[in-house]
Amino acid sequence: MNTVVPLLDLRAQFATIREPIYQAIARVVDSQQFILGPEVEALEREVAEYCGAKYAVGCSSGTDALLLALMAVGLQAGDEVITTPYSFFATAGVISRLGARPIFVDIDPESFNLDAAAISAKITPRTKAIIPVHLYGRTAEMELISAVAARHGLAIIEDACQAIGAEYRGRRAGVLGHLAAFSFFPTKNLGGFGDGGMITTHDASLAGKLRILRVHGMEPKYYHRCVGIMGRLDALQAAVLRVKLRYLDIWTAGRQANARCYATLFSSRRLIPWITLPQEPTAVRHVFNQYVVRVPAAHRDGLRRFLSEQGVGTEVYYPVPLHLQECFAGLGYQAGDLPHAERAAAETIALPVYPEMTSAQQMHVVDAIARYVAAVTDRVGRSAA
Ligand SMILES: *Cc1c(COP(=O)(O)O)cnc(C)c1O
Repeated sequence: MNTVVPLLDLRAQFATIREPIYQAIARVVDSQQFILGPEVEALEREVAEYCGAKYAVGCSSGTDALLLALMAVGLQAGDEVITTPYSFFATAGVISRLGARPIFVDIDPESFNLDAAAISAKITPRTKAIIPVHLYGRTAEMELISAVAARHGLAIIEDACQAIGAEYRGRRAGVLGHLAAFSFFPTKNLGGFGDGGMITTHDASLAGKLRILRVHGMEPKYYHRCVGIMGRLDALQAAVLRVKLRYLDIWTAGRQANARCYATLFSSRRLIPWITLPQEPTAVRHVFNQYVVRVPAAHRDGLRRFLSEQGVGTEVYYPVPLHLQECFAGLGYQAGDLPHAERAAAETIALPVYPEMTSAQQMHVVDAIARYVAAVTDRVGRSAA
């Protein structure tokens, strides 16, 4: 039988939680209370507790969580926000959406996260905030980022959309800056049955602003203090997420076990350094929303095609760094400006790491890569001879 290994198998996960999920959905349907309300409030308390944050505010997506966070710190048109060029588009899109300017700082090639040491050179009198992204579930260098932000009085908004449960020196994503944005998009480690998001903070006044901003700046009803957005969270999503949150640590442990197993398998097949694997530094609890490896750029797309033929799902996160996106041409960046991000965009490939993956499936992925490497290195060897 042909082994198939999708990049993510949400049906396998659902099979393990079908009953409690149907009960949670029935509870909401019976209540006929669909927007915000007690389910959302309960999820907010549970996520705040999970992250160790004082407050959590549910909202409509991870993108809106970032947007609301920037609105809460008072970002104005013309302001600058420092962030990474190597992330999902939303990280920078929300900055532009508010008329502000994303200032991209290159990444550290080992962690794929913002190079904290390069931030201070990009700070100007217009800089208002830094958005570090905990990419793939690995926290950014928050100690250095916090120090530079404190020195210049900048707000830190964590893009923790891929990193619920990730830790940096024993503290969780969600409490490593002033505000943190989470996404419950179905492919995230805690994914809903549609869109959803959350913002965490220790600051009561920011939490209060967020609650008003997510309902069109309204407080009390039909009195609008400021122009907010329609950024509410649905009770159905909250009810589903509350069930899934109870399993999150088990699923995270499964992802970590798969990551460690890849490390053993790739090294026993002598595939390192042809392939470069993600590391788990001791200061970090990496939650592996994605397991992203580097391979030689000349072979990346060929490997993806071969794996697809072998039934293995992969993805490239992300093929075009943000500073080279068409919509940001006006910012004036050129190819070559941020070489580490550009190289990562050409060399990276995400492999399946979801917790329900079996060891036979994982072996199939590694076998397929080993066969591809044997074929191409043999060809390289012969053509060099
Ligand atoms: C998923 C994601 C977002 C956006 O979340 P949505 O819920 O899809 O809006 C933002 N930043 C990063 C890094 C993400 O992975």
